[in-house]
Amino acid sequence: MTLFPLKRFFTRLMLSYLVITLAVLSVISIVFITLMQRYFFSVEGWQLVSRGEKAGSLLQEPLLRNDLPALRKLTETLAFSYDASLWVTDKYGAVLANPGADPDRLGLSVEQGEIEHVLSGNVITKQITGPGYNSLFYMAPIYEPGYDPEDENGDAGDAAPVIGSLAISFPLGRATGTVAGITRLGIYAAAGAVALAVIIAYSLSRQISRPVEEMSRVALELSQGRFDQRVSCHTGDELGHLAKTLNYAVDRVSETIEQQQHSVKLQRDFISDISHEFRAPLTTLRGFLELMRSGRINSSDQSRYLEIMYADTLHLSRLVQDLLELASLESLQITLVKEMHDLGPLLKSSARHLQLAAEEKDAILEVQIASGLPSIPVDANRFHQVVVNLIENAIRYSPPGGVVAVKADAEEQGVTIKVSDCGKGISEAELPFIWDRFYKVDKARTRSDTGSGLGLAIVRRIVEMHGGRVAAESAPGQGSAFSFWLPVEDAALT
Ligand code: ADP
Repeated sequence: MTLFPLKRFFTRLMLSYLVITLAVLSVISIVFITLMQRYFFSVEGWQLVSRGEKAGSLLQEPLLRNDLPALRKLTETLAFSYDASLWVTDKYGAVLANPGADPDRLGLSVEQGEIEHVLSGNVITKQITGPGYNSLFYMAPIYEPGYDPEDENGDAGDAAPVIGSLAISFPLGRATGTVAGITRLGIYAAAGAVALAVIIAYSLSRQISRPVEEMSRVALELSQGRFDQRVSCHTGDELGHLAKTLNYAVDRVSETIEQQQHSVKLQRDFISDISHEFRAPLTTLRGFLELMRSGRINSSDQSRYLEIMYADTLHLSRLVQDLLELASLESLQITLVKEMHDLGPLLKSSARHLQLAAEEKDAILEVQIASGLPSIPVDANRFHQVVVNLIENAIRYSPPGGVVAVKADAEEQGVTIKVSDCGKGISEAELPFIWDRFYKVDKARTRSDTGSGLGLAIVRRIVEMHGGRVAAESAPGQGSAFSFWLPVEDAALT
């Protein structure tokens, strides 16, 4: 997998920012330059009209008198002071004075029809551009003195008393220069703005694309089975939220995988433990059966071998029974039938059950129930199973004549039942493991004097299903004490 699409994502983001910025800048520049041009040219136009009107009124007198020297002198003065080209025509359109101007330029600037239009009382204002020149042009009629074309009370039927016309051509060089200077400044500012836009677009695009790149990298690592990677994006926006959600999802996935790996390991261990537990008695059975089949066992040994085979068969049958029991307890297929019970009578009944086994081993079984024990919600059959397993162990691992004591005391909002013996005890190193399936302290013991190795695992499971806990204390050579505590309150109901 390449990171090429991510690069494209970053590039696309950056280009989008740039295109938007450039588009906005261009629109602003065009609008600004157009408005600026209009403003400067309208100021120039307004000045030209007012000068034209003023010049027209000054020229009325010499024009009416047909005083050509005075007319030319006045137009020269006006052309000089306005820094413009001037033309004065008579009422037939013939040029009478043209200081500072090429007389033919009037013909180039206006058509004959336009001159007639002006001589009939109209004004022309326009911009004239050509190779090497750019000017504002104004042409208006000159009326008889005393006539005001704006006076609406004049006789509508009378023709306007036009005695000539005035044309002014005013170069726009200064305005164009100012506009060009401001435009140049605008271009520099726009170039600076574009450079700034590139930097901002780059950093914004990085800010957005970096978490996306990081998430993509983590997703890639996940797809390759590496679950220790997390996204480090702590922005409070949607991307930050997405990164948090991704990290949370990765946490959940890795937890689930760990749990699955753990349960696969448990299963594997369980299968290997079972095969180990079954292999030993089955091998013995098979060996004896083969010997018997081959007829190599003499009749005096046969009954002893049969006893061993019988013990192994019992052991196997107990193993299968305990395995099924533990499997069903662990698979949660069993639901407890809890009822409120006084534990004293239950304990005594379980102890009575094992009295014969204790006598067979010359063990003394004592039961001490503290007075005023609270009633406890328990499944009586399961409680019996727990007590029997613990007492059976205590009898099994006690020396002949040993005392097995069963005590019940009120403790911590519940009742603690303790089964102690004076057997050989368990070392501190072994103690934490005795609740595990198939764990046996003395691996060398014969199958006839040990159980299935599942008894304590079943005890722990049943006690925990009641919301209680188990504990074991032991001093090697002095005995062991196995206890469990059950709560007064049913945790499942509170
Ligand atoms: P088992 O059926 O083999 O007794 P358990 O799960 O009941 O299996 O006990 C696990 C191991 O804990 C036993 O094999 C034994 O080594 C040890 N154990 C259990 N109870 C006692 C006890 N009262 N005294 C000494 N060791 C004990």
